[in-house]
Amino acid sequence: MRAITSRAPGVSSQNAPQTIIWTRTDWAATAALLRKPGVTQYPMDYLPIFLNIREQPCLVVGGGEVAARKTALLLRAGGRVTVLAPALAAAFDGYLAEGKVAHNAGTFRPEAVDEYALVIAATDDDAVNRAVADSAKARRIPVNVVDQPALCSFIMPSIIDRSPLIVAVSSGGASPVLARLLRARLESLIPAGYGRLAALVASFRAAVKERIKPAERRRFWERVLQGPIAELVFSGRDQDARSALQRTIDDPRLSLHGGEVYLVGGGPGDPDLLTFRAQRLMQQADVVVYDRLVSQPVLDLVRLDAERIYAGKERASHTLAQEDINHLLVRLAREGKRVVRLKGGDPFIFGRGGEEIATLMAEGIPFQVVPGITAASGCASYAGIPLTHRDYSQSVVFVTGHLQDGSMNLNWAALAQPRQTIVFYMGLLGIDILCRELIRHGLPATMPAALIQQGTTPQQRVLVGDLATLPQIVHQGKVKAPTLIIVGEVVRLRDQLNWFGPAA
Ligand code: SAH
Repeated sequence: MRAITSRAPGVSSQNAPQTIIWTRTDWAATAALLRKPGVTQYPMDYLPIFLNIREQPCLVVGGGEVAARKTALLLRAGGRVTVLAPALAAAFDGYLAEGKVAHNAGTFRPEAVDEYALVIAATDDDAVNRAVADSAKARRIPVNVVDQPALCSFIMPSIIDRSPLIVAVSSGGASPVLARLLRARLESLIPAGYGRLAALVASFRAAVKERIKPAERRRFWERVLQGPIAELVFSGRDQDARSALQRTIDDPRLSLHGGEVYLVGGGPGDPDLLTFRAQRLMQQADVVVYDRLVSQPVLDLVRLDAERIYAGKERASHTLAQEDINHLLVRLAREGKRVVRLKGGDPFIFGRGGEEIATLMAEGIPFQVVPGITAASGCASYAGIPLTHRDYSQSVVFVTGHLQDGSMNLNWAALAQPRQTIVFYMGLLGIDILCRELIRHGLPATMPAALIQQGTTPQQRVLVGDLATLPQIVHQGKVKAPTLIIVGEVVRLRDQLNWFGPAA
């Protein structure tokens, strides 16, 4: 190990930042150096590069599963692969059948690496791996020995593949687990459509160069890549994205300024249950219009600077009438804002999402709908109650137990079917009626039923009884909204399957 440290010119303080030139990996020495005051720059142990191996001969030594994975990667990058191993694992069968790899069944000799542009050793024999590394290095052929950085002339990063866009992550051998964790986080941050977005941009680069002044180009692309056009690609509307981009190039003042509405399902409460897309759009919002059901931790994930508008929906005292909400969304989008309409659960399940987008549609405002985990799904999972089960329930129905003029107009006969789970949303006030009617239409009074209050949150409460006792439990237990009611034999399974929070 040899480290050359140099002080920034003209800085004399002892704690001045230092630049370090590092020639060899020595973790103990590196760690010690990093603890020294003023050392701010970490030595780069490897030069990150992307290698073009298209049509280049590549050699993989070893015929096991790991060798097969490396082979797959080389093939994906267009390499011509020869595998040298006495026998090949089943994972190679497909490649052999399709003639995608050549098999050399001989044993390794140093000359075997001649003529190759790249070599990977993936055998379980240390001596062979070492011999491969030595012979490749002697010929200055780049070589990687799987999981043995000390023998490698190049190492392979963890990758997030959104070809043509690729993100590579490496800890340079310091902590492969850390690199993998980081990779997983990036994987969730980078929309699956990024590759298609990059391809779209590539096909317009020449046109943009021709039509947009150099000084404005960067800003132009930034707005395309973070705006509605990118969202069109992410939601699978590539053709619309293409036309929108063309229109924008023809007249840049046009579509980049247009507002949009994202009708986003915020799930039942636990912010971990949001979709990647919901999270991304929440981070881009100029304004968020949210309901009472949206939990605080979910709301906290909206971009800090976004304006927050509470649209309420307390029972009886609706803060904003539905009609007003519909028009508010239209007005905000017309002002050019990116509006997130954030709802509890799923916007299309007892969420009046349909009415809101009908207005947007009629007014010609672009929008997207992002599904969320509905209360039935979230509460059932977190209460340990599977909604269907081979032995107990073949179907599940979601019903609203909302009272209208003090009564509930439901098809009770259809609900009170054997081997069916019934989930009531908004059923708390009508609990007496719904238990009575289900019994009257044929369900036994002993049919198990559960109340789940504030499901999926740290305040979740689950109370279990049956159709005869449920009303009493509600009245005595001071059960509050939001509460979901599940009726059916499946409720019994909670005894075995309860996993979340304290048992009630
Ligand atoms: N669109 C929402 C439902 C809105 S109706 C969704 O898909 O979940 C409101 C009803 O949903 C409440 O009365 C309650 O029955 C149920 N609910 C929503 N979130 C809940 C939660 N965290 N715990 C229990 N019930 C919930």
